[in-house]
Amino acid sequence: MALSRSARWGALATAAASFLVISASSAPTPGADGIGDVYFPQLGNGGFDARHYDLALAYDPGTDRLDGRTTITARATQNLSSFDLDLQKLEVSRVEVDGRKAKFTRSGDEIRITPRGAVRKGRTFEVTVAYGGVPEPLGGPIVFGSDYGWMKTADGVFVACEPNAASTWFPSSDHPSDKAAYDIRIKAPRGLTAVSNGRLVSTYDKGASTYTHWRETKPMATYLATATIGKFDVRTGTTPGGTPIYVAIDPVLANGNDVDVYGVTAEATDYWSQVFGPYPFEETGAIVDDMPQAGFSLEVQSKPAYSAVRNESTIVHELAHQWFGDSVSVAHWKDIWLNEGFATYAQWLWAEHRGTRSAHDSFLAGYDSRPAANAFWQTVVGDPQRDTMFASAVYQRGAMTLQVLRERIGDKAFFKLLPAWTELHRYGNADTDDFVRLAERISGRQLDDLFRTWLFTPGKPSL
Ligand SMILES: [Zn+2]
Repeated sequence: MALSRSARWGALATAAASFLVISASSAPTPGADGIGDVYFPQLGNGGFDARHYDLALAYDPGTDRLDGRTTITARATQNLSSFDLDLQKLEVSRVEVDGRKAKFTRSGDEIRITPRGAVRKGRTFEVTVAYGGVPEPLGGPIVFGSDYGWMKTADGVFVACEPNAASTWFPSSDHPSDKAAYDIRIKAPRGLTAVSNGRLVSTYDKGASTYTHWRETKPMATYLATATIGKFDVRTGTTPGGTPIYVAIDPVLANGNDVDVYGVTAEATDYWSQVFGPYPFEETGAIVDDMPQAGFSLEVQSKPAYSAVRNESTIVHELAHQWFGDSVSVAHWKDIWLNEGFATYAQWLWAEHRGTRSAHDSFLAGYDSRPAANAFWQTVVGDPQRDTMFASAVYQRGAMTLQVLRERIGDKAFFKLLPAWTELHRYGNADTDDFVRLAERISGRQLDDLFRTWLFTPGKPSL
């Protein structure tokens, strides 16, 4: 057992119980302006649970202007006098709650909305926000020093938002712990292709515009949404295992690929479905855009987005995230190793599958190449801090943790644990304590020491 967790969950359960008693008869109060993430205190919002987003977007790459109308269907989790949404920088022109104009104020990245009447706890309501402006990407140290978010390209826009840039292009409860289904409708200049999550519902030309409607029916974290627009060569089909596939490649890159994106995506989707459990979404695929300024790729739900840099190992990493990160999402950003450690470990498993290197040897290569004095060993993988949440140790030491676990509990338990994890938390959220508890349950071993050493203790562990 993980000792810290029973104490923590006991306290939470007590707090929740008293809250329920009070709120049943309490006067409406404002929803919290954040969801309680220590890395991003203002992200997400309290007092409601977003269930569905309808995004209507019109983007003109010529002027860079985005005009949007977002309708969120949500369920109140308290009696609400007002509530917040997250929106960075863009102008809001009108807000409605259940079709009636509502008052709103702006403060930093928050929109505070006051409906005409209070929203009763348990009620489902709709909030519509009309907004517009020129979206700007975010920068700073978080994503390898790269810009991220709404990124203008030569022929449109590349949209990849982890961890906090979804709210630069649509009003939302911008935190992975509040997942929802999506309809995404995009109006773009005629001749451009708009690519988004889930499955294509319709696309047609009218006048000077192309209208495209995508639908993601499975719960999705805000940062995994995209509305990438540009010139694309699209290839669709079905993987040998039976999953629909949609691959969009910028024609500028068509001849420069040294990897068959469509073929590897199909093969890895099917292979991971055997190792990790059934593919969680309705479609797999890829968006490969000419965006050299984005120094990263992102596991956009159902269609990972790749900037100009790509290879087979990157593709299998992003597809492994469809299970680890997209279907099973972090409860708090400090748990990010549950995404990156697992997706990195998937790269090791892929090399093992290909017969090029065993996961044990991948472990040793990473372990031996870094002396104990290397700063790499000082990152606390289980709580890496906001600005270093994507430090290489989160990936590499996270993956090492899984190899150490595998060698401790044996292949049989380990390869039972991975699909058990994706099944238990499918479409939901989970944290490190949940993983430790499941690993202990499936293996019948006490594993506190292993995870304490590898995830929470700075320094190079001895073998
Ligand atoms: Zn990753």
